[in-house]
Amino acid sequence: MNQNAYTALTRELPSVAAVDLVTAGTLQLVVRCPSCGAQHRHLGLGLRRSPCGSFYLVTRTEPIAKLSAA
Ligand SMILES: [Zn+2]
Repeated sequence: MNQNAYTALTRELPSVAAVDLVTAGTLQLVVRCPSCGAQHRHLGLGLRRSPCGSFYLVTRTEPIAKLSAA
């Protein structure tokens, strides 16, 4: 009767890859939340708490292609 009432938060943090977003000279990192599926913005890498209350590690994506503004 031992239901799994624990989340995986304390064991291992999910890491999410951030996408750079430059807004008015400020670099923000946009991640897709592994918890709620929405996009959250952060100002830095590392351990972050999302607005929906979950924790994850924000990591940097590899620069695959740069969006060049027209
Ligand atoms: Zn979320």
